[in-house]
Amino acid sequence: MSFSQILGQERAKSFLAQVMAREKIPHAYLFTGIPGIGKTTTAVALTMALNCQKPVNGDACGHCVSCRQMKSGNFPDFLSIRPEGKNIKINQIRDLNRKLGFAPVSGGYRVIVLYQAETMTSEAANSLLKILEEPPSGNILVLKATEPLDLLPTIVSRCQRVPFQPLPVDDMTYWLVKQKGVDAEMAAVLARISGGSLGRALKMCENDFIDKRQEWLQRLIKLPGLSREKALEMALECAREDKKTGFQTSETWELGLMEMLEVWETWYRDLLLVRVGGGKHLMMNVDFSHKLKNIAGKLKVQNLINSILTIDQSQRDLRRMRNTKLVMEHAVLSLKGFVEHGR
Ligand SMILES: [Zn+2]
Repeated sequence: MSFSQILGQERAKSFLAQVMAREKIPHAYLFTGIPGIGKTTTAVALTMALNCQKPVNGDACGHCVSCRQMKSGNFPDFLSIRPEGKNIKINQIRDLNRKLGFAPVSGGYRVIVLYQAETMTSEAANSLLKILEEPPSGNILVLKATEPLDLLPTIVSRCQRVPFQPLPVDDMTYWLVKQKGVDAEMAAVLARISGGSLGRALKMCENDFIDKRQEWLQRLIKLPGLSREKALEMALECAREDKKTGFQTSETWELGLMEMLEVWETWYRDLLLVRVGGGKHLMMNVDFSHKLKNIAGKLKVQNLINSILTIDQSQRDLRRMRNTKLVMEHAVLSLKGFVEHGR
């Protein structure tokens, strides 16, 4: 993986290129941004570029010994630290500290990537602070976090901040069509629904998200025509979807109720968009644009806002471990009511 192969993130890439051209390169970086937009890939590209024996314009050649080792996952000086359970714990940082006592095996740079750095316990964070103050030379730390505010300010201030942005919809759509052979309309839907996260869009292609989304949206579409009894049945059907957590890191993604509610929210956002005359380029469910246009005119703006708020509240209730069946009954009946009163 070289910098040139990374989709988007021009600012991050040019910042790192500038940094690498310096005589003394900074030893700690904080990569921030949502999962799945290229933070890990960039850390890999950085490691390759720093250790490449025949770099081309500051980028890795892809063919030398260390480049090949990186590609096959056998480079000895690329280390990862991930949460064990929910947190990165102090023993993991102590272990790292011991490893840093030895010079990099390859004679070049050792790069250590901390995944979800915001999950460090305060003991772990304090221990890491000492490392950040005076790391042995030849070691580069890359902390990854969604949001810098979740980290100790003292840690943030010791790192070079490198923000990563969600990817532009058009770039992602083009990439999904070209590289993955995704149908153009579906690629546009995935680019939008994933919130500009390529990692998430790729996961969506891999599992049965595309079919599930159809099923979830069909539920909403038929909701207004259902009797109260049938609506309650549907709520039960929804509650049987596993209460999984959705997309949290670029590695874990589980399809379940949370994801369904997110898809439902995009539906109401689209209806609201159409209702207030917003452009189609902002629409998420572009493959349903005709249906959305048919429905939106009949609905009141306030009820659409209330529908979005209801879904938001349901997600919060589920996170607080409230009874899934009750939460879904309330959600489905409220949503049904908003549609009916909108007519
Ligand atoms: Zn190389």
